[in-house]
Amino acid sequence: MTTLNSRVPEGPIKDKWTLYKDHIDLVNPANKRNIDIIVVGTGLAGGSAAATLAELGYNVKAFAYQDSPRRAHSIAAQGGINAAKNYMGDGDSNYRLFYDTVKGGDYRSREANVHRLAEVSGAIIDQCVAQGVPFARDYGGLLDNRSFGGVLVSRTFYAKGQTGQQLLLGCYSAMNRQIARGKIEMFNRHEMLDVVKIDGKARGIIARDLITGEIERHSAHAVVIATGGYGNVYFLSTNAMGSNATAAWKIHKKGAYFANPCFTQIHPTCIPRSGDYQSKLTLMSESLRNDGRIWVPAKIEDAKAIQQGKLKPTAIAEEDRDYFLERRYPAYGNLVPRDVASRAAKERCDAGHGVNATGEAVYLDFAAAIHRYGSTKAKIQGLHNPSKEEVIKLGEAVIEEKYGNLFQMYEKIIDENPYKTPMMIYPATHYTMGGVWVDYNLMTTVPGLYCIGEANFSDHGANRLGASALMQGLADGYFVLPYTIGDYLADDIRTGKIPTNSPEFDEVEKSVKDQLEFFVNNKGTHSVDYFHKKLGLVMWNKVGMARNEKGLKEAIKEIQDIREDFWKNVKVPGSLNELNPELEKAGRVADFLELGELFAKDALEREESCGGHFREEHVTEDGEAKRDDKNFAYVAAWEYTGKPSEAILHKEQLEFKDIELKTRSYK
Ligand SMILES: Cc1cc2nc3c(=O)[nH]c(=O)nc-3n(C[C@H](O)[C@H](O)[C@H](O)COP(=O)(O)OP(=O)(O)OC[C@H]3O[C@@H](n4cnc5c(N)ncnc54)[C@H](O)[C@@H]3O)c2cc1C
Repeated sequence: MTTLNSRVPEGPIKDKWTLYKDHIDLVNPANKRNIDIIVVGTGLAGGSAAATLAELGYNVKAFAYQDSPRRAHSIAAQGGINAAKNYMGDGDSNYRLFYDTVKGGDYRSREANVHRLAEVSGAIIDQCVAQGVPFARDYGGLLDNRSFGGVLVSRTFYAKGQTGQQLLLGCYSAMNRQIARGKIEMFNRHEMLDVVKIDGKARGIIARDLITGEIERHSAHAVVIATGGYGNVYFLSTNAMGSNATAAWKIHKKGAYFANPCFTQIHPTCIPRSGDYQSKLTLMSESLRNDGRIWVPAKIEDAKAIQQGKLKPTAIAEEDRDYFLERRYPAYGNLVPRDVASRAAKERCDAGHGVNATGEAVYLDFAAAIHRYGSTKAKIQGLHNPSKEEVIKLGEAVIEEKYGNLFQMYEKIIDENPYKTPMMIYPATHYTMGGVWVDYNLMTTVPGLYCIGEANFSDHGANRLGASALMQGLADGYFVLPYTIGDYLADDIRTGKIPTNSPEFDEVEKSVKDQLEFFVNNKGTHSVDYFHKKLGLVMWNKVGMARNEKGLKEAIKEIQDIREDFWKNVKVPGSLNELNPELEKAGRVADFLELGELFAKDALEREESCGGHFREEHVTEDGEAKRDDKNFAYVAAWEYTGKPSEAILHKEQLEFKDIELKTRSYK
């Protein structure tokens, strides 16, 4: 079996990144002006990379399918971004952030990368503050922090429930400065449809202008993919509707290995599905678990009455409530990591204790927090013996200050007031830890082709802790890639412009055009969404929160059948040379239909339970995930050989020299 070279530098873990930076090749400023870099995707990862590379002096061409980088899916991030600043004085450190992230990922991530992430985390906050990102501050004016799941310290920086939006505005201003200087050429409304390799190196892309339909060739000395995650393979997810895997999948087909596709995060606090016609799910930020208590009725008859609309949650007495996370995991309670919280909710709902009409919901209740905050406020205001109503009013005001926009969003969608009656939540697909395999330099298995942000597999192992995706995307873009790419480009200073009139560009452009023409000419019977929904259902039922061998084998066959049907019967209205969203979706769903199969194959091969991957055959006596470190402490990196079913598995063995492999416990 091929051994993947992760190119982790030598030396003690705390010195690796510093030593690496001290010894890499550099490109001098005059030479940077002669080097072009393509960045595909301008969410937080790609946007921060584009801005920094341009600031360094490279010529950047940046691509996004939205009409502005400000509309990237990153804008949706609500809860916050982690950094080991220890501003709260609660014992945080780079080591603790490193430790929590490796443990939270169920010991399936590369130690050296995670340590580097922790090391640069503090600089991200400084950078964003300098850009003017309005992080929340405490009464003394210092940056405030809150807690997210899986940790015992408060290290999450936030801007109300709009952290991603504010970070993206900061990043976009940094990009705009470079756009104005001509160092970034921004291609909005452009979709990359394939990568072009020359002499084995990534040298360009083929993109479609989504407004005119024109197919364009773009060349560069290196290509960076920052196109986000593939959660929409499930059709329903908390991701933006347009989030897709096309760029990642196309580069996989051109030689980039795809790692751990089965590691997907199912987030515990989403608004439950309401019906078959729904096309999107909504996240309620994990930050709500700081104050919300999760429960279901302890008595099955109460749950039934609630499901039938005969009983209200507020009518259930305290002793008849099962705060199942607090009961099962007393040390972390409602702040256990997402995989643990999601599985526990599913277990209660499967046992019949779910609380909406479908039986697939649990409560997230703020009554205790409202009472606690209200009582404190009353004391501060010198109110003696305040009435219950006064306490509630004061408490609700505190909750509104912390989470007001999230509560408002919930009320708009569900039409219930979450200050008065507990929210209903249920797990939903949210984030993909798997992705394109990259080495320590964030380079894929194709020379000159890099992958950053959610699109790559790195740092989060089998489960991502809350508030660490933004940290990783910005670490990659602002602080890691700008160094590592220079080491590669130092060999390219004499190459000169890469021409686009080569046979390699001809060939890739032709295959892109052929596929687009096929779609508009196929005149099939079913819409793209018809196939996407079918795929999503198979993924959720058989490759979702719990998986088993039988279901996975069935899923592989079912996905192959849906794919065959798709290529025979898909109907794409409209034409090539116009804005055609159905045509865009067709290409994306074609790729999901292949990725879904590899996903199930990976889940089948991984005969253990770890993090977001729960195999029903591998469970401890008390129902927890049972890892198999002896046989599965590796990154599964898949090589494409023509069909997902024929993909070849390469294993990157994970070494744990600085953190002891332990059974993860939050009890
Ligand atoms: C509702 C929600 C809330 C979240 N909250 C948090 C949080 O509080 N904290 C946290 O740490 N994480 C959070 N996350 C996760 C986090 O937001 C994402 O992981 C992160 O923003 C991804 O950033 P990215 O830059 O990698 O990708 P994205 O932001 O998805 O950007 C992708 C970019 O690629 C472009 N693109 C895609 N395909 C192509 C193509 N083929 N051609 C051209 N361009 C393309 C898009 O136009 C876009 O510019 C949340 C996620 C969701 C869904």
